[in-house]
Amino acid sequence: MTDEQWIFMNGEFVRKEEAKISVYDHGFLYGDGVFEGIRAYDGNVYKLDEHLVRLYESAKSIMLEMPYEFDEMREIIAETVRKNDLRDAYVRLVVSRGVGNLGLDPASCGTAQVIVIAEKLALFPRELYETGLEIVSVATRRNRPDVLSPKVKSLNYLNNILVKIEANLANVSEALMMNNEGYVAEGSGDNIFLVKDKVLYTPPGYVGALEGITRKAIIEIAEEEGYTIKEEPFTRHDVYVADEVFLTGTAAEVIAVVKVDGRVINDGKPGVETEYITERFREKVKTDGMQVYIQEAEVG
Ligand code: PMP
Repeated sequence: MTDEQWIFMNGEFVRKEEAKISVYDHGFLYGDGVFEGIRAYDGNVYKLDEHLVRLYESAKSIMLEMPYEFDEMREIIAETVRKNDLRDAYVRLVVSRGVGNLGLDPASCGTAQVIVIAEKLALFPRELYETGLEIVSVATRRNRPDVLSPKVKSLNYLNNILVKIEANLANVSEALMMNNEGYVAEGSGDNIFLVKDKVLYTPPGYVGALEGITRKAIIEIAEEEGYTIKEEPFTRHDVYVADEVFLTGTAAEVIAVVKVDGRVINDGKPGVETEYITERFREKVKTDGMQVYIQEAEVG
C-alpha cells in the first residue's frame, strides 16, 4: 500500500494535499455537476459500466460535456485504483461544470473538471453490519422527481444532507425520507428493501428514489434465487410490520435495519433472507465488473 494518496485531476495525478480546485468552479459555487460513487472489491471495479452509463446520462441531461470518452473514463478509474495500490476501494468520480464567473450561467465555464478519488471506506461502523442499523423517518421530503429527476445524480445533494442532519439529531446513522405523497422513498444515500412473507418489496422509480445500481443488483440476485420481487409504493406502516428491512448502496453496501422509529423489526436482529442475499451479493462483487490488475498484467 502506498503511503501517499493520489487524486486524478483533469488528466494528471496529484497528491491529496495538492488536489485543490478554484473557488470559481461552478460545482463549488452552484452544485453544478454530476458524480458517481463506485466500489472495487479485490481488484474488481464492480458494475463499472453501469456507473459510467448513469454518469454519462446524468451529464447529457444537464448538458454537461464530458471531456473524456466512455472507454477513457473506464481506464482513468482503473488507473486511479492501481495508482493508489488499492484492491478494495471506494471511488468517487466528480465532474463539475468547470471554472466560470460568479454568475450561474454555465456558458461562462470552460471545460468540465474531472476528479477521481479512491480510498478505503466503510460507510457505517463495521459492527453495524453485524448488528443492523436503527433508523428514523424524517420530515424532509424527497425532491419531487418532476422538479429534479433522481435519475440525474447531480452534485445537488442538499435534500439528502438535510435528511442526514435529522438523522444526526436523532442520534442514528441513517434516516428514511418520504416522497410528497407520504410514500417511503429512500435513505439519505441508499435504497430500501422490505421482506414480508418471503416477498421482497422496494419502491419503484416513480416514487422518487434514485434507481440504485446496488438495488438493481439485489433485484437480479433475488430473481436468480427465486424470490418474488414487487416494485410498488409502500408506507411507513409497511416498514414497521415488515419481517426484515435492509438498505442498499455502493457506499452502504447491504445493511440490515433492525429498528425504525422505535419499532423493533421482527426480533431486532438481521433477518435470514437479508443475510442470504447479502452473502450472494458478496460473492458477485469480485467478478461482475472490470478487473483492474489482471488487465494491467495482460497489457504489460
Ligand atoms: N439513493 C441515493 C440518494 C444515493 O445517493 C445512492 C448512492 N449513489 C443510492 C440511493 C444507492 O445507489 P447505488 O446503489 O447506485 O450506489
